[in-house]
Amino acid sequence: MKRIAFYIAFFALLVAAFCIGASAQIYEGRALDEVYIHNNSHASEGYRETIELAAYYDVQYQLDTETGVLRIFCGETNPQKMLPYADGDWVPWTKYYLRPYIKTVIIEEGILSVGMFSFYQCENLETVYLPSSLLRVDQTSFYECPKLTKIHYAGNESDFGKYVEFQDKRNSYTGGAVERKAIDLVSFGESVTVHCKNQDGETFRTYKVGGFSAGESFHIVPPTMEGLTYVGKKSEINGVFAVAEAREYVFEYICPHVYEQKEELQFCSQFCIYCGCCDPEYEDEHAWSVKKDVPRGLFRDGELKKTCMVCGLERRQRDFAYIWTIGMIASVAVIGTAVFCAIFFPVRKKIRIKRLTW
Ligand SMILES: [Zn+2]
Ligand SMILES: [Zn+2]
Repeated sequence: MKRIAFYIAFFALLVAAFCIGASAQIYEGRALDEVYIHNNSHASEGYRETIELAAYYDVQYQLDTETGVLRIFCGETNPQKMLPYADGDWVPWTKYYLRPYIKTVIIEEGILSVGMFSFYQCENLETVYLPSSLLRVDQTSFYECPKLTKIHYAGNESDFGKYVEFQDKRNSYTGGAVERKAIDLVSFGESVTVHCKNQDGETFRTYKVGGFSAGESFHIVPPTMEGLTYVGKKSEINGVFAVAEAREYVFEYICPHVYEQKEELQFCSQFCIYCGCCDPEYEDEHAWSVKKDVPRGLFRDGELKKTCMVCGLERRQRDFAYIWTIGMIASVAVIGTAVFCAIFFPVRKKIRIKRLTW
């Protein structure tokens, strides 16, 4: 009898585990509904311009239904605006079956604007992270989000006032009888920088999560990316922000590296379709143009930026302060002297011993 009960319990547990596993799903793609755009390609004049714009649109989204995190990104080297979604049907994540999952929205560094109706009626949306690259928030972006309580901006208040045009029209949410403006929910402060690295140590994605004030807690989960396997030790990072603290985290991934040639006849333009890194086989084909962004000093490191004139690949590297070069030369001299002494002194000792025993 006991055994049967055990089997039943075990089976139930297995089913439960399967259900939890199956319910976690990731939706991702270009941040516009391709089907809708395709079906409306003969749309009225008003839409035509935006449809043409959509053809070049490279903003991506990723919604994890388990964590409730929606990420919107385009990469820092390719800054883009979100589309002004003229119609709710343009937005893939505001579909009735996806909208309820959204709790947190992370708009990554590189995105220049938050489009119209982007989060219209996201009934469970609580927190939004805005990047410091932001220049505009369109009207109606946060229209009717009753649970929205925090909008973190990854920068300070004066930058926000200077660079961000926050349109007020219908950018409010109704929480019961009170209607509040989204702009009043914006908080400023420190941000956490996340670097995603592949097994070759190359950073293929950097973004900031920010707008934390002192004492506020943060929670960071490594992003899931197509083709890449997360191999870092921690599955999440929780912390509390101290005053004027800049935090950086590195998430490690393994990439199977599948290279594809972007431009015909340009051999060095072989990029990995997953992490975007370059094929090392063609490393010597790049035609680098080196620029020193920040020149190095005696004690201060500089930054070197090189761009390939053929494929447009950009690489940044540290240009170490002169003190390190001086230090290197000095230590080589010290080691050299030490080796020299080690070779000659024991000989003298032996001679002395010989003399004593004589
Ligand atoms: Zn790769
Ligand atoms: Zn190149």
